[in-house]
Amino acid sequence: MPEPSSNPLFPQGSEAADLVISPRLLLPVAPRNEALEGLSVAFRGGSITALGHRDEVLAEHPNTPHLELGHHALLPGLVNAHGHLAMSLLRGLGESESLTDWLNNTIWPLEARWMDEGFVRDGTRLAVAEMVATGTTTASDMYYFPETAALACRDAGFRLQAAFPLIEIPNAYSSDFDECLAKGLALRDRFRDDGLITTCFGPHSAYTVDPKRLRRVAVLADEVDADVHIHLHETEAEVAGARDAQGGTWIRILDEIGLLTERLQAVHMTAVTDAEIDLVSERGVRVVHCPHSNMKLASGICPVTKFRAAGATVGLGTDGAASNNGLDMFAEARLAALLAKSGDADPTVLPAADIIAMATLGGARAIGLDEQIGSIEAGKRADLVAVDLNHPAMQPVNDPHAALVHSDAGARVTHTFIDGQCVYENGVWKTLDIDEVLANAVSWRTRLNGD
Ligand SMILES: [Zn+2]
Repeated sequence: MPEPSSNPLFPQGSEAADLVISPRLLLPVAPRNEALEGLSVAFRGGSITALGHRDEVLAEHPNTPHLELGHHALLPGLVNAHGHLAMSLLRGLGESESLTDWLNNTIWPLEARWMDEGFVRDGTRLAVAEMVATGTTTASDMYYFPETAALACRDAGFRLQAAFPLIEIPNAYSSDFDECLAKGLALRDRFRDDGLITTCFGPHSAYTVDPKRLRRVAVLADEVDADVHIHLHETEAEVAGARDAQGGTWIRILDEIGLLTERLQAVHMTAVTDAEIDLVSERGVRVVHCPHSNMKLASGICPVTKFRAAGATVGLGTDGAASNNGLDMFAEARLAALLAKSGDADPTVLPAADIIAMATLGGARAIGLDEQIGSIEAGKRADLVAVDLNHPAMQPVNDPHAALVHSDAGARVTHTFIDGQCVYENGVWKTLDIDEVLANAVSWRTRLNGD
């Protein structure tokens, strides 16, 4: 058996897929959601090929490069189940405005003035750079020019669910709903067999898309076998508006339309009754919880523990950086834990291991990728993240899951692998020109502020 190298060098490109990693702790999430010692994982061609006792895995792979991570936890890459990636360029704008003012007076006018393919490409790259450095390997993105975003992600080796936008208001991307739909379906065709990019319908919300058109989305989603990703019941005001205009809540209306099914990825869900929680859970709707955005915009609190008790899948999302203001999913996990405990006035709800599962496999289930990602298991794609535990804020590690959730783990990510490719290692972005990404962000700040 070869001696494990303490300073491993492994080739990039396609050869980088062939590697054995031996972490101090391995958190597979499934089938056991525990922190395990003495294990190694091997992957080839982007797929996890072996997971087992270190000595056995190393003996089976005598010629494979070996990455020894003696102070690290290795876990599945985090899944950001809801975001608007290019909006990273709007980070910090419209601070402390109400949701309505923030959208109507700040975000939408800026997007109307500036949003184009260049904005989307530069903003998406900025978002991917932040996410891979903080342990996220997959994101769902709902934004204009989704093809540009998808190509930017694929070039960076980042896994994306592109929820192609369906909106009625004319903008630089589309003149109406029908054009959105045509472009979205073409996008779906183009990326049908892509290893990193998946697509789904992305109607912005029930209050911005006419119910008749949402009915078309429901029929089309069945025809092409696709999910539907939508902001739903984000605030009490949104629900009150539905009652005034439609005579019922959006959840009830979507149920009548035929959208309240296992195809639906429902984002936010802060304003829901117990009966609606039961209905949504019975229908198999997947819920995406965005605690930071909800708290920052005072939108309300998603009753996560009730959804989980009712059997619903719950994933976590950051929402756009304009309402967060970051895309660090470990930070989102911490907020989800704190909000559930304080919201329920019960410190026993959502223990750290459950939160880690929600941020990984829960997110993968929420966006329909759980057969490929979300846990470290043989046969799944090698989306892996290493966190250095050798830090005063982490030690002693009596509870690894709690350390990851509550001790700023996003700042201590050392390695990020997506589909077996190392995209980030010890402060170095392997697939992005970080100087260019940051220079572009500064350039957009100047343009947006009219400096
Ligand atoms: Zn959103």
